[in-house]
Amino acid sequence: MAEKVILVLVDGMRPDGLMQCGHPFAKKLTEIGTCFLSAQTVMPSVTLPCHMSLFHSVDPDRHGILSNTYVPQVRPIEGLVDRLDNRGKKCAFFYNWEELRDLSRPDHLHTSLLISEHKTDDTDRKLTDAAIRYIQDETPDFLFLYLGETDELGGHDNGWMSEIYLQVVNNAIDCVERLYENLPAGYTLILTADHGGHDRGHGSDMPEDMTIPICCIGSKFKAGVSLPGGSIKDIAVTVADLLGVDRVKEWEGKILPYTAETE
Ligand SMILES: [Zn+2]
Repeated sequence: MAEKVILVLVDGMRPDGLMQCGHPFAKKLTEIGTCFLSAQTVMPSVTLPCHMSLFHSVDPDRHGILSNTYVPQVRPIEGLVDRLDNRGKKCAFFYNWEELRDLSRPDHLHTSLLISEHKTDDTDRKLTDAAIRYIQDETPDFLFLYLGETDELGGHDNGWMSEIYLQVVNNAIDCVERLYENLPAGYTLILTADHGGHDRGHGSDMPEDMTIPICCIGSKFKAGVSLPGGSIKDIAVTVADLLGVDRVKEWEGKILPYTAETE
């Protein structure tokens, strides 16, 4: 039977930031899921290009969005949300960075909630609370929850791996734990990031910027497994497969392995 999927993206969360944030659920993720803690994002390691690659499973050179300013694709590729909706799946977006509105074309989302990020508003928590209520009321097939405070309040304002950065990651993981504990049966949770960071920025091809975590928790993923490999381009392919939807032929990613078997 097809799974339903919740994809949570914590902006700018490095794998070592996840593991060192001090939240007990960070360690629990490695016990209850299959985790790729050296997965790779794409160049440039910048928020909108990386999200476009996540949702379209190609490199930025192919989709053409090379900065945080969206431009229409020259040779459009059907994205994850567009494909899922075209196959009758109910999709929703909860996010606090408005540029992400262009990750799918109009008319493909059942519900979309933007709470713009303002520095004191605790929008990661507000979005998480709203997503939990929506999941329980509407049981979407696919929900994307984007938590943006880690990047801006954590990394850019205070430096990647600084004490405040780790606190903001801790807060995001607290949100993820609450979401996980309130998930109805039949959901797979995937937690990832768009890029890492170093000093007070990102965008380079340094390992600190390029390495991201991907943690998959659900009935198809073996618990307590850590695997090498994994790419941000693998996520759309994996989500579509979990939902029983055929992939778009241009997509370049691979299905993340459902069992502990390594090649
Ligand atoms: Zn970002």
